[in-house]
Amino acid sequence: MEWATHEARQYEKLEGGFVKCSVCAHRCRIKEGSHGICGVRLNRKGTLYAATYGKISAEAVDPIEKKPLFHYLPGTLSYSLGSVGCNFQCEHCQNWHISRATLEDGLLRSLSPEEGVARAKGTGCKSISWTYNEPTIWHEYPRDMGSLAREKGLGTVYVTNGYITEEALADLAPMLEAFRVDLKAFTEEFYRKVCRAKLQPVLDASRKARELGMHIETVTLVIPGLNDSMKEMEGLIQWVVDNLGPATPMHFSRFHPDYRMQDREATPVATLEKIYRRAKELGIRFPYLGNVPGHPLENTYCPKCGALLVERTGYQTRFRGLKGDRCGECGEKIEIRQQEKG
Ligand code: SF4
Repeated sequence: MEWATHEARQYEKLEGGFVKCSVCAHRCRIKEGSHGICGVRLNRKGTLYAATYGKISAEAVDPIEKKPLFHYLPGTLSYSLGSVGCNFQCEHCQNWHISRATLEDGLLRSLSPEEGVARAKGTGCKSISWTYNEPTIWHEYPRDMGSLAREKGLGTVYVTNGYITEEALADLAPMLEAFRVDLKAFTEEFYRKVCRAKLQPVLDASRKARELGMHIETVTLVIPGLNDSMKEMEGLIQWVVDNLGPATPMHFSRFHPDYRMQDREATPVATLEKIYRRAKELGIRFPYLGNVPGHPLENTYCPKCGALLVERTGYQTRFRGLKGDRCGECGEKIEIRQQEKG
């Protein structure tokens, strides 16, 4: 495959043949003939190329709940695409076979933005998700496909680590509706040691996504001994309340040993339940547990009267007590963005 065909957006040319990419917070300065930390943005003769433009490694039709997104087009399917590479190097990555793959590993095949939108429509999906590996580093391709998708009435979803710059996010704003962001921990130390990145840019991007009017849901993988202290979780939850708003759904997921992190046990369910209760106390209207199949705290309850509104079993979604966007019992307004009728 020829990699240097699609010129990148969001970069500047520097002296001596260097380029500086400003799509993610690493802001790599890349010398001629080399690539950025993500492995997929290449400097060829002083021009930056988006090597994975129009190239996918994975394609699936997923329930949107799998992202997980519970308050954006619930009960619908999302046409989901992944490529290769990542700007993080998390030791516990669950998709390492593509996030750590290189351009030369033979995983990629072509799919144009037009074909992607046609496949999404043809499979009855209501949105397109760029997921499986980090979409930020794919910037130009989701941007082009997403613009077409919106013209055709489809929703658009980033499943992201949030390490995107404010200018790249603004570049996506006209097409991107939902920002499903990992808040992996609430310490710079965790981000530095476990992800080889920084926390603050993730917080800044999440706040910016909210300012730009995107739908946001957060996911925190709770890892025993690394980010599971109540003090840290309280700090994280309070930050979300103050900066993203109490109606932001927060998912607290169970860790299972993976990739290079095999040295610890799965998260006790009791720990997740405790975090859930604390999130409620601090004002989060819709906390959820994740990776605990069949647990009742994957359901949506009315924050005012406690009525069951949406029941979830696996990826099956049943609407129980919702009347439009209100609780059928007490009339409380529920922040949930449903598919338009008709
Ligand atoms: S997307 Fe991030 S990691 Fe990749 S080249 Fe640009 S700044 Fe570097």
